[in-house]
Amino acid sequence: MDVGLIIEWVRDNKMISECEMREFGSNLSSPFISDAQIGAFAMAVKLNGLNFDARVGLTKGMRDSGKTLKWDLSGPVLDKHSTGGVGDPVSLILAPALVACGAYVPMVSGRGLGFTGGTLDKLESIPGYASQVSRKRFQEIVQEVGFAIVSASETLAPADQRLYKIRDVTGTVNSIDLITSSILSKKLSAGLDGLVLDIKTGSGAVLKDLEDSMKLAKSLIDIANGSGCPTTALVTDMSQPLVNGVGNAIEIKSIMETLSDPKVESRFLKVVVELGAELLSLNQPDQSLLKSRKLLIEAITSGEALEYFLKMVSEMGGPIDFESTWKEILPVAPEKFEVIAWKEGYITEINTELLGRSVLLLGGGRVNESDIIDPSVGLTHIAELGAKVDKKTPLAVINAPNSDITKNVEVMIKNSFTISDEKRPSSKLITQISL
Ligand code: URA
Repeated sequence: MDVGLIIEWVRDNKMISECEMREFGSNLSSPFISDAQIGAFAMAVKLNGLNFDARVGLTKGMRDSGKTLKWDLSGPVLDKHSTGGVGDPVSLILAPALVACGAYVPMVSGRGLGFTGGTLDKLESIPGYASQVSRKRFQEIVQEVGFAIVSASETLAPADQRLYKIRDVTGTVNSIDLITSSILSKKLSAGLDGLVLDIKTGSGAVLKDLEDSMKLAKSLIDIANGSGCPTTALVTDMSQPLVNGVGNAIEIKSIMETLSDPKVESRFLKVVVELGAELLSLNQPDQSLLKSRKLLIEAITSGEALEYFLKMVSEMGGPIDFESTWKEILPVAPEKFEVIAWKEGYITEINTELLGRSVLLLGGGRVNESDIIDPSVGLTHIAELGAKVDKKTPLAVINAPNSDITKNVEVMIKNSFTISDEKRPSSKLITQISL
């Protein structure tokens, strides 16, 4: 394979065969291709896209860069993946809820990408949680607990692990084709019976436009189903965070609060339940969406989902007594600073990406590939769209590592909110995909 030539073909918008791109994808984790070549490839794909066959080839090649899992379990093997959001810990409740409904969930997840948060970074804010486990251990935990959330590794889609890190720092996160191969290479390697995709749209999504989100959904569904993985998707709203805090430990805290005292009418749990219902009914076509919703709500409100979550955390190296200790042991930022509304009115728009970027500035994500995350920092008490505010109302509370940084972040938070005299209708929370 001539790596340089393939990069030139993508640069010059030439057609590439499935076979050629598959070989390239399967070599993405090897020293045969340099970081510089991967960066150039990623940018060329971002600018020009790939033809359908090349997209299929890249996805299958990246899947084949590692091993593919096979399961012999007593229930269906299901999973969910999101295209990335801000204040979006859906997987952390949906996975244990699916287990409570009889499924197994081997979740190969991602870290923060660009301004979006990553499930693994959130989980690793729990002292002891180690998301990189051997394939054997991953399989054991899934068998014993019903689910495990782990990172791509030397054995599971290692090509994605490398490309993901390079995309994160080369302005190539928001490429439909790279998102497609990134997500599906991981998911196809997990040997699934069914997959639901949460395609985010709105100001906190990587693709903000509903039309682009629909395009991405179709690209993902076509390639996943074409590669033998039954897949469905919903487009969900990210024009504000789904929970009222953004940050790694902060989102784990909100998961523990939600699982301990679930409010099924919250936007967050509505999204969890709808995605789960789509997936359960995809896997069991004779089970209505209504029945699937009921099962999931019962799994969450009965405390079963919480039990599975706690079990998984301890099997992955976290504390065995997390249920009683989380309030004390989750890291807390030393400085707290309230950002107050500058005028009276209604919150009519939130630039959720900017909220995500302010968490990066606080140290809660990576700006450079080698950055170490501070799990304690972020935003809490974020005001919701439609809320009435005055000059005393906090828009958010900054949880910072020191007081020097808060002034810059305060400006970013204020710039994230639009306050108007008139209330505006809110965006649709969940949109079905018309194929
Ligand atoms: N999640 C992934 O795994 N990859 C992406 O590119 C975006 C979201």
